[in-house]
Amino acid sequence: MRGFVARVFFFSVTVSDGAAPTGSGRFQLLSWNRTASAWATLASWPSVACSAYGSCGAYGYCDVTVSPAPACRCPDGFEPASAADWSAGRFGQGCRRKEALPPCGSGEDGFLPMRSMRVPDKFVVQGGNRSAEECAASCVASCSCVAYAYASLQSSSAKGDVSRCLVWVGELVDAMMIGAQWRSTAETLYLRVRVAPASTGKKASKNAVKIAVPVIAGVLLLTSFFFVWFFRGRVKFSTFLPWTLNIVMLNHSDEMLTSHDINFTEKKKKTKSQKKQMPVSVNTSTEIVEGDHTEDLEFPLIQFADIIAATGNFSKTFMIGRGGFGKVYKATLESGQVVAVKRLSKDSNQGAEEFKNEAILIAKLQHRNLVRLLGCCTEGAEKLLIYEYLPNKGLDDILFDSARKSVLDWPTRLGIIKGVARGLLYLHQDSRFTVIHRDLKVSNVLLDADMRPKIADFGMAKIFYEDQVNANTRRVVGTYGYIAPEYSAEGLFSIKSDVYSLGVLILEIVSGVRINSPDGIKDFPSLIVYAWHLWREGKAVELLDPSLAESCSPDEALLCIHVGLLCVQDDPNRRPIMSSVVSILENGSASATASLWLPMPTQPAYLGMMGETAELENSRNTMAMTVIQGR
Ligand code: ATP
Repeated sequence: MRGFVARVFFFSVTVSDGAAPTGSGRFQLLSWNRTASAWATLASWPSVACSAYGSCGAYGYCDVTVSPAPACRCPDGFEPASAADWSAGRFGQGCRRKEALPPCGSGEDGFLPMRSMRVPDKFVVQGGNRSAEECAASCVASCSCVAYAYASLQSSSAKGDVSRCLVWVGELVDAMMIGAQWRSTAETLYLRVRVAPASTGKKASKNAVKIAVPVIAGVLLLTSFFFVWFFRGRVKFSTFLPWTLNIVMLNHSDEMLTSHDINFTEKKKKTKSQKKQMPVSVNTSTEIVEGDHTEDLEFPLIQFADIIAATGNFSKTFMIGRGGFGKVYKATLESGQVVAVKRLSKDSNQGAEEFKNEAILIAKLQHRNLVRLLGCCTEGAEKLLIYEYLPNKGLDDILFDSARKSVLDWPTRLGIIKGVARGLLYLHQDSRFTVIHRDLKVSNVLLDADMRPKIADFGMAKIFYEDQVNANTRRVVGTYGYIAPEYSAEGLFSIKSDVYSLGVLILEIVSGVRINSPDGIKDFPSLIVYAWHLWREGKAVELLDPSLAESCSPDEALLCIHVGLLCVQDDPNRRPIMSSVVSILENGSASATASLWLPMPTQPAYLGMMGETAELENSRNTMAMTVIQGR
C-alpha cells in the first residue's frame, strides 16, 4: 500500500503602496492540464466576481443582495461613468454623480444613507469617542469629505472606544452591499450628495436675494408686531380666522424644497409651529423627500363640515369613483384647491386601524410617483381621506377602455411602468421604513394631467423595519390575480409579493388585457401563462396591445415583458428586487440587446383556482375587488 503525502503551502503576496493595479483582484489556484495545454482553475477567491477589489470602480458598489447574481451598482444620485461599458458588463470606470456637489459650505448638501454596507477601502479613522452627530459634523466640516460611517461600540466587547467614526476623502472604492448572512458586520454608509437644486440665476438672482431678503424680513417683522398687538390687545376672533397650514415638502429634484399651502377653515388654533428645514440626511436620491424632519409635519385634520360643503353633502354629482372601501368624491376646498375625498363606507372592512395606518403612512411618504395625502378627517363613524386630485384618475379607466386606450401610446405606457417601478422602489428601499403596498394593481395607479403615474392606496401597507425580511400575516389582503402565490397560500408576504403584483401590472399595461379577463389570452388559464408561453415560443411580440402597433418600440416592449415575467415567477427568491427592476428598465430600454443578459423567466405554475374564479365572475368587467381573507 502506498502512503501519500499531504503538502500544505503557505504563501503571501505583498503589494507595495502605490503599485500599479494590474491584477484582476482575484486569487486563483490553477493547475496546468498537459493534455489540453491550458490552465484549469481549481479554486478562486473571492467567489463573487464583483466583490474583487475595485471591480465596480469608483463610487460603484457590489450588490450581493440581488438575484440571480451579485451585480455592480451605482448609488442613488449616481450613474455609470460609461453607460456603454456598464451595459457591456465592464464596470471598472465606476460611477459619477448625476449632479455635482454644491459649493462647499453652501448648505445645499446632505447625506444619503446606504444601509447594509461593507464600507469602502481607504477610510480615515476620526479619533476620540464621538457621537453620531459629531461624526457627521466632522465630515461636513471638511470640504473634501465624501462619506462617513458611524458605529456605536457600546454593546460590543471592544475595550476603550465606545464609538467609531470613519470618513472618506476622494473616491470610494470597494464598497459592497451585503446579504442577510453578513448583516452583523453591515454598516450604514452616509454618502455626501446634493439635496437642493442646482442654482441657475447666478449673480443676478444673488443680487435680487440680497435686496429682497432684508425688505421681506422688514415687512414680516412689522406684520408680526401688528398681529401681536392686534390679537393680544384688541379682539379675539380666532374662531373665524382661516389658518394657513404650511406643510414642508421636499419634492423631487426640480423642486427640492417647496412649501405647500392648504387653506382650511379651522376653529382651533395651531399650537405647534411648522418649521421649514433642509434635511440633514436624505434617504435616497433626489426623489426622496422624507427624513427625520417629517416628525415636524403636523398632519392636517380637516373639518367634516368643510368637506360636506365642498361635496354638496356627498352628492352623486361629485362622485368620481368607488372602491372596495367606499366612494371617492371630487371637491374644491375654500382655498380653490381641487382634491379627491375618499369616504370610507361605514360598513367597510377598513377599521380605524387601517385608516390611521394609511393616513400616517402616506403623510410621511412623499415621492413624485405616490399620491399625496393632503389631510384626513374623522368624525363619529365618518372617516375621510383627502388626496391631491389626479385628473386622469385610475389607469384601469383608460387602459381597458377600447375607445380611450389609444391615448396610452407606447412612450406613455413605458413612462407609467417606469414611474410605478420608481414609486415601488421608494416604498421598498428608499423610504425610512420598508413599506409593502400589498394591493398594487391598475386601479391603484392614478394618472396626473400629463399621464404620469402615482401609486395610490396604502391602506394595506405594512411597515417593516429594516431587519425584517418577511412576515406572516393573519389576513391575506389584496386583489385576486395580483396576489403572489406564497402570499395567498401561506400568508407570507414580503417586498417580493409587491414585485409579483408589479409583474402582473406590467403584463397588463403591455397587453391591454386584464389579469382576470379570459379575453385576449386564447385558451390559456391566465395572462401570465399566456405571456410565458409566447415568450418561450419567441413570439412575445404577439402579446402587445394592438393599439400600440404604431407607437411601439419592440425592443422596449420585449424588455418590459421579460421584466414582467421575471417579476411573476412563482419562487419569490427568483424575482428581482425593485432596484434591479428600475435599473433594468432605466438602462436596458436604451439597449436593443438588454434582454439577452437577463435571466430566463421560469415556467409559471398553473394558477387556475376554481373557487377564486367563481368569485371573480361577479366582479369581472366592473371593478377589481379588494379581498380581505381570513386565514
Ligand atoms: P379598491 O378599494 O378595491 O382598492 P380602487 O383602488 O379602485 O379599489 P379607490 O382607491 O377607492 O378604489 O378609488 C376608486 C376610484 O376613484 C379610482 O379608480 C379612481 O378612478 C378614483 N380616484 C381615487 N382616488 C383619486 C384621486 N386622488 N384623484 C382622482 N381620482 C381618484
